Amino acid sequence: MSFDADVIIVGGGLSGLSAGITMAREGLNTILLERGEYSGAKNVSGGRMYIHSLLKLVPDALEKAPLEKPITKETYLMFCENNKKISFSFEEKGKRNSYSVLRAKFDRWLANEAENLGLLISYSTNVYNAYREHEGITLETDKGALKAPIVIDASGVTSVVFRSLGLRNFSPDKWMLGVKEVVKGNGLEREEGEAITVVNAIKGAKGGGFIYTNKDTLSVGFTITFDSIPKSEKPAKDLVEEFREKMGIEGEVLEYSAHAIPYYGYKNLPRLYDKNVIAVGDAAGFLINDGFTIRGMDLAIASGMVAGIAVKKLVESRNYENTEIYYKMLEESFILRHLELAYNRFSVINSSLSLYPDVICKVLSDMFTVSEDRRTLISDALIRLKESGITLGKALDDLRKVVL
Ligand SMILES: Cc1cc2nc3c(=O)[nH]c(=O)nc-3n(C[C@H](O)[C@H](O)[C@H](O)COP(=O)(O)OP(=O)(O)OC[C@H]3O[C@@H](n4cnc5c(N)ncnc54)[C@H](O)[C@@H]3O)c2cc1C
Repeated sequence: MSFDADVIIVGGGLSGLSAGITMAREGLNTILLERGEYSGAKNVSGGRMYIHSLLKLVPDALEKAPLEKPITKETYLMFCENNKKISFSFEEKGKRNSYSVLRAKFDRWLANEAENLGLLISYSTNVYNAYREHEGITLETDKGALKAPIVIDASGVTSVVFRSLGLRNFSPDKWMLGVKEVVKGNGLEREEGEAITVVNAIKGAKGGGFIYTNKDTLSVGFTITFDSIPKSEKPAKDLVEEFREKMGIEGEVLEYSAHAIPYYGYKNLPRLYDKNVIAVGDAAGFLINDGFTIRGMDLAIASGMVAGIAVKKLVESRNYENTEIYYKMLEESFILRHLELAYNRFSVINSSLSLYPDVICKVLSDMFTVSEDRRTLISDALIRLKESGITLGKALDDLRKVVL
């Protein structure tokens, strides 16, 4: 049986390109299939990249990658009932740990880097089916069929290869919806970038809003669980518009996009490997939302790199079924460890995020009000928790999960 390549990657987003760059450097004969006309044409991201993985992949990225602004100011904003809100900011000028990015520009640049290293990318190529044949995987695309002994599924949350092989169910209950607009900017005077995380901006919406400052624009978006999406004709677009209005952001909308986000959590991760196939990035469910950081991009790059090294070993040994080595390498990397660390906070966010802002606002309001009924902070907090139907046991348990 002759194969078209040592390995085929499905999807030219961050995870697929990172796998492709790693394997091109290792001299593997690799083809990447991307359904968009170029990388970045089809993907959506809030736009804040933690750059530690990127610097491993492209060590001189700070000099040459199309990054927007270094994020050095964090603002947290929590809305409560009756126009109350809590906000706080933290600034660390000069910090270079995360940058705002615009994916259409960024992914295109990364694809160009990959092609310069010799990776063969076939654009406008949609993979619609995958099946096992002759000890390898055959991929059906709108440009014909291709075969390889190893396939990396980097197709994002829909994970076309794993689903076609029956290794994954179509599972929107494990996804969130992310909507984003790029708005011609105001409030961009600050030379370094700012991230604003917003909780409880839209009543009943389980999720949160974000704003990142780019060089000339703002990225404004909202993430929400599918079960709490308000009913309307255009729920996704309405959501981001309502959020923008609430935040008082005006300006021409240059770009609008909506996309599913994996939301499995460490303990419910889907299958990550099987004979001849490996999943990376969103296709593997690698996303962290721990209330402080929303991260998928650094995990996508890192998992792509790990997959590239794992595949090199598989090709050298000609044992294409032994994909468990990928999982073992993931266990040794930061990826699964960080997912596990975030799991407790993730479970609080998932189940109780909307319960606490009102309680905290009431307690703060009481503390800043002087009257004859003044109470101690602790007795006031206990009373406000009770009024909101939250037992002390639950509050302590949630606090433990957030802190530990
Ligand atoms: C609204 C929103 C906000 C987010 N905010 C952030 C953030 O601020 N920071 C952060 O780190 N992460 C954020 N994320 C998550 C982050 O965008 C993802 O984790 C990351 O993009 C995953 O990269 P990936 O390469 O695995 O998948 P993707 O970026 O989804 O790339 C998949 C690629 O596969 C291609 N493809 C799909 N199906 C096929 C097919 N059948 N055939 C061929 N090609 C195919 C697509 O065109 C695409 O190019 C956000 C996500 C959303 C939706």
